[in-house]
Amino acid sequence: MHSPVVVLGGGPGGYAAAFLASDEGLDVTIVEAEPRLGGTCLLRGCIPSKALLHVAKVISEVSELETEWGVKYDCDLKIDIDTVRSRKDQVISNLTGGLAQVAKRRGVNVIQARGSFASSSEIKLEGDHESIPEGKSITFDHCILATGSVPAMPPSFDIGSDRVMDSTGALALKDIPDTLLVIGGGYIGLEMGTVYAGLGSKVTVVELAEGLIPGADRDLVKPLAKRIDAICDGRVHLNTKVGSVSEVDDQIEVTFEGPNKFGHERFDRVLVSVGRRPVTRGLGLENTQVVVNDRGFVVCNSQQRTADPKIFAIGDVAGDPMLAHKATHEGRVAAEVIAGKSAEFDKRAIPAVVFTDPEIAWAGLTEGEAKRDGRKVSVATYPWAASGRAQALNITNGLTKWLIDPETNRVLGCGIVGTGAGELIGEAALAIEMGCEVGDIAETVHPHPTLSETLMNAGEIHFGTATEIY
Ligand code: FAD
Repeated sequence: MHSPVVVLGGGPGGYAAAFLASDEGLDVTIVEAEPRLGGTCLLRGCIPSKALLHVAKVISEVSELETEWGVKYDCDLKIDIDTVRSRKDQVISNLTGGLAQVAKRRGVNVIQARGSFASSSEIKLEGDHESIPEGKSITFDHCILATGSVPAMPPSFDIGSDRVMDSTGALALKDIPDTLLVIGGGYIGLEMGTVYAGLGSKVTVVELAEGLIPGADRDLVKPLAKRIDAICDGRVHLNTKVGSVSEVDDQIEVTFEGPNKFGHERFDRVLVSVGRRPVTRGLGLENTQVVVNDRGFVVCNSQQRTADPKIFAIGDVAGDPMLAHKATHEGRVAAEVIAGKSAEFDKRAIPAVVFTDPEIAWAGLTEGEAKRDGRKVSVATYPWAASGRAQALNITNGLTKWLIDPETNRVLGCGIVGTGAGELIGEAALAIEMGCEVGDIAETVHPHPTLSETLMNAGEIHFGTATEIY
């Protein structure tokens, strides 16, 4: 079988690339190992985690009603874990079902098989699904490699016990353990820790670095760190290394080496969230000219071209940041380039969001990066305590800040911590992408009372003209 364009992997990078290539009039085939399209994001990542975070958030808001607003329900919290799990699974099914329909409507052929390169123009297909063509192989003019990533599990933690989970195991939500240790204070560990704490687990977080969410600006992390510390009752251990992990009497015994946490402790479950690794092994890349770097990512240029003229790479397999919207955008670029357009990805303003409570979001340059590169920036910060909307919602621990080029007044970056930061950062990404000056934001009329005003107010702070309208 021959298909002019083959997309290997049906995650948010792969299916987006396939749909867009089809819109460009190209004949496209997706080769996906799993029975459903959607990839990590839809099946065991972004979407199920946000469905569960929604539950944790509502539980926390109800408890705030009782403690802060005098609203009493006079009933105990009861969680039917089976219903929570099936509701989450329903959300996934709704979306994967939608994707299958879109693929059909767009005439995109989907083969359910594990693919590996036999050469720079042929993929071998493994499996027994009826969609696999005779000869179990497909040739192509162009291939878009979109095989994504999987959780990294250091060998010393991989003890063959289902009490030691990766993010996929945690999202399966088998039960609500009494005690859960989260190894890794990055966004996946903290999101899942927030879910389990909300559902009633006693959560402990251990992080090797000196702060949570390494890579984010410290002023943004501060309110989140305070909150995580509160929901963990102080069981957040920074600068701390996990030594050994072993199963003892239906529990997991873990040894710690840190300034405030030393010795061993037992937990009902352990979540290992120490990063993800790109899926390149077993793909037969040695039969192509594709080059992989020392971190295992496929090397490609701003048009997503690899060293092999026929093969493009997108998404998690093509490097950081490992985010769904970055994968999708790279898919768009690859599809357009294959269709003969002059597309290119300028990675200036890829937003990143940590969907905890409060959320952290940033786009463009961070203060940390500016300091590291010795780049001069003006920083205009607006604390949410001055926002009427934040006061009304009792979320005054938020902060909005712009990073501004002092010579041109152009906005270079934005960071937000607070409820809904992930929704607010879209405006900032657009502003940075369009090369707006901070005055454009300060002078744009924002609706009152909303949290979006904090973007305008931070802009006004830059000019010393902030008007407090409560
Ligand atoms: P993937 O989504 O990993 O898809 C790759 C696909 O390729 C898979 O379906 C796989 O089965 C298939 N495949 C692999 N090898 C083969 C083969 N040999 N043959 C055929 N098929 C193959 N990102 C965000 O932007 N926002 C979030 O809120 C967010 N939350 C997350 C929460 C969690 C718990 C996790 C784990 C991830 C989260 N991510 C989030 C990251 C996001 O899921 C990934 O960045 C995104 O899915 C990457 O898309 P992709 O298309 O590159 O790869």
